[in-house]
Amino acid sequence: MINSISLGHFYLTHLVHPTVIHTREFLAIFDVDGTMVNLSGAIDFDALLVDAFKELGTDVPPVAERDALWRAGKNHADLLRSWGVASPRAFWDAFDRLDFEARSGAIKAGRIGLFPDCIPALSALHDSGRVVLAVHTNTPYKLARYQLEHFNIARYFEALLALDVDGYDQSRAKPEPWGIHHLQAKIGSAYGADFTGRTAFIGDSRIDMDAARNARIPGILVSRDTSIGDAKGGFDVVSSLVQATPRFLGSVIRRFGTGL
Ligand SMILES: [Mg+2]
Repeated sequence: MINSISLGHFYLTHLVHPTVIHTREFLAIFDVDGTMVNLSGAIDFDALLVDAFKELGTDVPPVAERDALWRAGKNHADLLRSWGVASPRAFWDAFDRLDFEARSGAIKAGRIGLFPDCIPALSALHDSGRVVLAVHTNTPYKLARYQLEHFNIARYFEALLALDVDGYDQSRAKPEPWGIHHLQAKIGSAYGADFTGRTAFIGDSRIDMDAARNARIPGILVSRDTSIGDAKGGFDVVSSLVQATPRFLGSVIRRFGTGL
């Protein structure tokens, strides 16, 4: 498991350089898909949803309603039941299996890769010694771990929070704040430090920014489409991950803390 590997590394580092560990100033929580991993349109998630409905023998709801499912958070089960899905758990199991098959196939075929700014950004943050990095994704754990390991970026992160582990499930999925609070507590106890007021979320979607707002931490939207321009939605915007330096994180967190 990534968690045990990275925590093993943490304990080793702790023994060798105890002072370094306690100087971590910030916790940076990263989304995966669209933030670090470039899906580049390789996967049609709506088509996977349709296939999952068909597997369960349920009538497929219209596309506008299906779209609402991605943002349903804790209401996902009620929404699915309103469409005649008897077991939301069985539905997500079917969806997750279809998703894993489609994505692992596309990754192996080279149709999904990392954004070129990903490794430079992660290594700069990690090597600064000032930032703890964690992952928070609404992807199932098996698929998230596969991606992090396949792209050789698991080593940068001290924790991976993904669906179906650590009590994280669809009802606690982003935009719910549960996962951010969970990671703050988990990393905080590993470091013997309180990361409240010292955490930022880095993601590519409105759902990520909503999760950050709900958890009362600053959000940093990665928008490689520069036409979006300056932040207008209560979060900061960067056009490349490499802009998310320790110094930038510090200034975002300080501004958020003072309400400016
Ligand atoms: Mg994303």
